[in-house]
Amino acid sequence: MIARNLKTLSQALAAREISSAELTRLYLDRIARHNPRINAYITVDPEKSLAQAEAADQRLAAGAGAPLTGIPLAQKDIFCARGWLTTCGSKMLGNFVSPYDATVIARFNAAGAVNLGKTNMDEFAMGSSNETSFFGPVNNPWDTGRVPGGSSGGSAAAVAALLAPAATGTDTGGSIRQPAALCNLTGLKPTYGVVSRYGMIAFASSLDQAGPMGRCAEDCGMLLNAMAGFDERDSTSLDRPAEDYCRDLAANAGDKPLAGLKIGLPKEFFGDGCEGCDPEVMRLVEAAIDEYRRLGAETVDISLPNMRLSVPAYYVIAPAEASSNLSRFDGVRYGYRAAEYGDLNDMYGKSRAQGFGAEVKRRILIGTYVLSHGYYDAYYLQAQRIRRLIANDFVAAFKQCDVILGPTSPSTAFKLGEKAADPVQMYLSDIYTIAVNLAGLPAMSVPCGFAHVGQGGGSVWLPAGLQLIGNYFAEAKLLDIAHRYQQATDWHSRRAAGFD
Ligand code: GLN
Repeated sequence: MIARNLKTLSQALAAREISSAELTRLYLDRIARHNPRINAYITVDPEKSLAQAEAADQRLAAGAGAPLTGIPLAQKDIFCARGWLTTCGSKMLGNFVSPYDATVIARFNAAGAVNLGKTNMDEFAMGSSNETSFFGPVNNPWDTGRVPGGSSGGSAAAVAALLAPAATGTDTGGSIRQPAALCNLTGLKPTYGVVSRYGMIAFASSLDQAGPMGRCAEDCGMLLNAMAGFDERDSTSLDRPAEDYCRDLAANAGDKPLAGLKIGLPKEFFGDGCEGCDPEVMRLVEAAIDEYRRLGAETVDISLPNMRLSVPAYYVIAPAEASSNLSRFDGVRYGYRAAEYGDLNDMYGKSRAQGFGAEVKRRILIGTYVLSHGYYDAYYLQAQRIRRLIANDFVAAFKQCDVILGPTSPSTAFKLGEKAADPVQMYLSDIYTIAVNLAGLPAMSVPCGFAHVGQGGGSVWLPAGLQLIGNYFAEAKLLDIAHRYQQATDWHSRRAAGFD
C-alpha cells in the first residue's frame, strides 16, 4: 500500500479496500519507527490525524468522497493549522498553537485529506539544507549523512522515506524544487498568486509560493487541484477560473507524444554558466533532454542574459521583505518572550535575540540595511530593476520555446555541515531556481537519474533533478511534460533503501 501513487490510493479508499484510519495508522507507525533517524517531522498528533481519518471514512462510506478524501498528507510547518503546533522551524514560534487554518490547510480539510503531521524546515524557510531549523537538521533518506535540501527538507525526506504519500512545500527561491531534486521527488512551484498565502507564515511575500511535493507529476497535479484557487484573504491571490491540473495527463500518448514541443536550452545553464555545476548532474540532465528528443520534442538554444544577477538580486529583495515580515515577532503578540528583561525595548531585543537563529538574524540585518535611508536606492531599488530585467528575459525566451529545461540544483545532496559555515556557498545552491521566483513563473523538478559519488572507501548513488520552467499559468502543461517523461523512465519510482 505504501508504494502506491495517490491515484491508486484514492481508488483503494473509494473501493473500501483499505480505510483511511488503517492507512493513516500505517503511516503513523512508519513515522514512529523511522522518523528518529531522519527527523522529518516536528509534530505528529495521532489523535488528531485519526479523528480526521475517521471523518473521512464516514464521508467515503456515504459515497461523498473527493479524490483526496482519506489520504494522509504531511504539511510543512510553515502552514498554520488550527490546534496544531506551528513553529516555522523556529524557537520564536516553539510554543505557538495556531488558532486558525491557512487557506491551503482549509482546502485540504475540505477535500477530506488527513493531516499526518507538520514537517521540519529551515527556520522561517531560510536555507537550502534544513540545517537552520531550531528542531535540528533532517537527514536525507538516500544517505543519512547528507542534507535533504531546504527549506522544505522535512517534507522531502518524509515522502522519500515513505513516511507520507505526498507533502506540501513552499518555494521562495527554490525550496520545493531543490529538496525534491536532492530526495528524488517531483515538486512543483506554481505561478505566483495561484495558491493562497493566507496563513502561510511570510518570509518574502512577493516571492513565496506554496506547492506540492510527491513521487510523480500526477500526484502533484492532484494536490495542486486541492491547493489552488482564488482567496479574497490574500490580496495577491489571482481570481482565475478553476482548472483541472491533471486534465492532460491521461491523453493518448502515441509514438511521439511530445511532437511539436519546443524546449529552450539557455546558454547560461549549459554554457558559460555551468562551471559551478557538478559534471555528473549535467550528464544526467543532458540524458533527460535526449529522452525528450526521443519523445518528439525539438530543442532550441535560448539566452537568459540577466540570469547571473538573480542570486545577488534575490539576496537583497528577500531579506528586505523578511526584515519587514519578521518585525511582528516581538515577544508580545505570540511566540517566544525572554524570561528576564528590563523595559519594553529590552524585552523586544532579548526576545528577538534569543528567539531567532543566526541565519534569520543575518537576513534581518541585511534587509534592514538595504532598506535604510541612503542605501535604498543603491541596493533595494537596483535589485528591483534587475528583477524586472530577469522577468523580461523570460518573456523574450517564451516567444521562442514552450518550456525551458536545465538542472534544478548544481549538485546532488551535500554532507551535513559541508556548507553550513559558508553562507555564499549555501546561497549558490539555488543558482538555477531563484530567477523563476523573481519572475513569478511556475517550475518543476523531476527525478532524472543518479550520480555516483565517492564516499570514504566506498560510494553512494544520489538522485539528481531536472528543472522544467513554464510560462505563466502553464502548470497543467508542465505536469503533462513531466508525466510523459515519467511514462518513459522509472527514475521517479526508485526508492531509498532501508526504510521498509
Ligand atoms: N535557499 C533560499 C533561501 O535561503 C530559498 C529558500 C526558500 O525557497 N524558502 O532563501
